[in-house]
Amino acid sequence: MDNFDVIVVGGGLAGLSAAYCLAKEGIGVLVVERGDYSGAKNITGGRLYLNPIRSLLPDIIEKAPLERFVTKERILMMSDKSSVAIELSSQKFGQKPYHSYTVLRAKFDQWLADQVNAAGGMIVTKNRVDDLIMDGTKVRGIIAGEDKIPANVVLAADGVMSLVAEKAGLKQRQKPQDYAVAVKEVIELSPQIIEQRFNLAPGEGAAQMYAGAITKGMFGGGFLYTNLSSISLGLVVRIKDLMEYKPQIEAPQLFEDFKQRPEIKGLIEGGETIEYSAHVIPEAGMEGIPKLYGDGILLAGDAAGLTLNTGITVRGMEFAIASGVLAARAISSATKKKDFSSQSLAEYETLLKNSFVLKDMETFKKAPHFLDNPRLMGQYPQFLCDTMEQMMFIGDEPKKRLVGTAMGEVRKIKFTQLLKDGYNAFRSM
Ligand SMILES: Cc1cc2nc3c(=O)[nH]c(=O)nc-3n(C[C@H](O)[C@H](O)[C@H](O)COP(=O)(O)OP(=O)(O)OC[C@H]3O[C@@H](n4cnc5c(N)ncnc54)[C@H](O)[C@@H]3O)c2cc1C
Repeated sequence: MDNFDVIVVGGGLAGLSAAYCLAKEGIGVLVVERGDYSGAKNITGGRLYLNPIRSLLPDIIEKAPLERFVTKERILMMSDKSSVAIELSSQKFGQKPYHSYTVLRAKFDQWLADQVNAAGGMIVTKNRVDDLIMDGTKVRGIIAGEDKIPANVVLAADGVMSLVAEKAGLKQRQKPQDYAVAVKEVIELSPQIIEQRFNLAPGEGAAQMYAGAITKGMFGGGFLYTNLSSISLGLVVRIKDLMEYKPQIEAPQLFEDFKQRPEIKGLIEGGETIEYSAHVIPEAGMEGIPKLYGDGILLAGDAAGLTLNTGITVRGMEFAIASGVLAARAISSATKKKDFSSQSLAEYETLLKNSFVLKDMETFKKAPHFLDNPRLMGQYPQFLCDTMEQMMFIGDEPKKRLVGTAMGEVRKIKFTQLLKDGYNAFRSM
């Protein structure tokens, strides 16, 4: 194969966004993707927040194959046999430009790959990058099977378990503490049924997050997103917690139990599962971000650990797109200088620091520590459910005052602990 200016490893959101911007500038770019096509191996929840990235891909983003714009947000705290829901039904979210959409990656990534091709970029699928061509600490290209392809810059956009970042010496494999595993199904249902079940107008979508007994106190939770004619349903659990849980339980079993919950069962009834997947998610936040550049190499998207979970929002896709676009800008400027050294490519980090990507990661840097609290996933959802149940229940005995009922439940949890957790929430969020 020819000598390329840039080789992008991974045709996901980060890689394709970078390749699109580079190709548009006339920079020779090759994307190497191991999947049968872009999107074949890409999993998300998923909902994409559009506002942060509209200005980054201005000419194409509005034409993207998005599913439904989200107008209804629901958070459910679950005990074993009950749940308490908080719902936000927002007219603001229903106004253009819509702030968030549900997406299906198989469609979205293929569309983005088409934009790369149309802009003059080259994508090779069904090829896995196995190694890097190194000259000391300088990255000079990639090795994929028998092929050795040189390039001025390699962009590692190969996702959460980035082999390329490890081979370049920029990243060490993190601990099970820093990753969660997700199991997800896409369940087909007609648009009419979806709109009826979730009380949505045509085109509107719902996003739901579930926390509590479904993960048996382990860090994680469930999610549900309505697509045009399907529902994305999934469950996430931290790998370390799963490894330590006694008696042993697997994530697919937790997911099956989740599907059997009455809160879920009625929503997916009659639907046909058309996609089943499992994937790892980086959960270390700011502390999980490795060095983002080296001689002849940059990291973007999940490969760079750019995912942010605040407990009520999960964001990785727009971070992947933004980091891809900003990596392309740094490469473009290095190309003009004909300098692909670490010092020259350091501009990428500056661009990220000046963007929402590292600003938001910095703002919520304490979130992973705050969320690393078994009470949030176990005791507090239980407390909420029990309190509401006690307050709403009318038995055959004369009813106690509501405040007395609530205080009775509060006494079951340590009040000082509750204050401490509240203070931590205040500092982290
Ligand atoms: C279950 C789940 C739910 C999520 N929910 C949300 C959500 O609702 N909203 C949100 O914004 N984010 C969400 N995220 C996070 C988001 O999906 C990721 O942050 C995002 O997909 C990262 O994009 P990426 O391009 O960096 O990586 P990926 O999409 O993983 O792309 C990496 C690509 O590299 C390819 N690849 C890997 N290794 C090689 C190799 N050696 N050679 C060639 N190709 C290779 C892969 O096949 C893949 O196509 C979720 C993630 C998961 C798993």
